[in-house]
Amino acid sequence: MMPWFKRVEKGIITPTEEKKETPDGLWFKCPDCKTVTSMTEHRKNLRTCVKCNYHDRIGSKEYFAILFDDNKFTEMDEEMSSGDPLDFVDSKPYPQRTAETQRKTGLKDAVRTAYGKSGGRDITIACMDFAYIGGSMGSVVGEKIARAIDHARKHRTPFMMISKSGGARMMEAGFSLMQMAKTSAKLALLSEEKLPYISLLTDPTTGGVTASYAMLGDFNIAEPGALIGFAGPRVIKETIGKDLPKGFQSAEFVLEHGFLDFIVDRKELKQRLVDLLAMIMPASEESNGTAKVQKVAKSS
Ligand SMILES: [Zn+2]
Repeated sequence: MMPWFKRVEKGIITPTEEKKETPDGLWFKCPDCKTVTSMTEHRKNLRTCVKCNYHDRIGSKEYFAILFDDNKFTEMDEEMSSGDPLDFVDSKPYPQRTAETQRKTGLKDAVRTAYGKSGGRDITIACMDFAYIGGSMGSVVGEKIARAIDHARKHRTPFMMISKSGGARMMEAGFSLMQMAKTSAKLALLSEEKLPYISLLTDPTTGGVTASYAMLGDFNIAEPGALIGFAGPRVIKETIGKDLPKGFQSAEFVLEHGFLDFIVDRKELKQRLVDLLAMIMPASEESNGTAKVQKVAKSS
C-alpha cells in the first residue's frame, strides 16, 4: 500500500532552538463557561476565569504566594509524614500510596503550615492541598494544624486555616476522626487567649473538615462557588427522602443560610485579610505588636 505522505528529503534536522514548543498546559479552558485563556493570563488572574470568575483549584504553594508578603515565609514540620497504624490496604498498601503520592505531588501530606507576614503583620497559616489524596485529613494533617495553632499562641499571631478537603482519610480511619477533636481543642485554647482565627473554605470543603476546624472560625469565609457540605447530596437526599434545593451546598447558599460571614474573590483575598486583621487587632501594629496585643488580650 502507498503511504499518504512521503518524506522527499532525507535527514532533515531542526536545531533545538528553532523547534516550536507546544508544552502542556499552555491554555486554560474554563470548565464553567468554556472560555479559553492563555495560562500566563490565567495565572496573572490568580487562576480565576477572566469571563465568569470561576475559581480554579489551587494549592498551598499558590495561597502562600498570594498571602505572605513577597512570598516570604518559614514552613513548619516540613518533613512530617504519615505512618501506617492500621496496616491498611485498599487497591494498594497505604505506605505505597503515600510514597507514590509524595513523588507525584512533591508534597509530604495534605497540609502545609507556615508563618510570616501579611500586610506587614505576623500571621500563621495552614493550607490544605487537594492534590494529596483528596486533601484528606489524617494524623499528619491534624498534628501539623495543632502545632501551627500552638505556634500562633506562643507568638501571639492570628491563625488562618485554608481548607480544601474531601474529609477524613479512610486509610487512617479512627485516627483521622481523632484529629477533629484535637484541632478543635487547640482552637478553643486559641480563642481563650483572644487570638483571632480566620477560616477560609475553598472548593471543596466537606466531611470531617467541615464538621471540625473549617466551621470554627471567628470569621468563616469562602471563595465564590466553593462546594461546602458535610455529606454528599446523594446521601442526604436518600436520608431525608426529599429533593434538594438548587445550588445546595454552594458557598452562596451556605452564606444565605447564615453559616458564612462573607464570600471573598481570590483577587481581593489578601487585601480583605489585611483589612480584617487591622480591624480586629488594631493595637498590634509593626514590630512591637506582640506586647500591645497581650495588653489588649489581658484587659478584655
Ligand atoms: Zn469561566
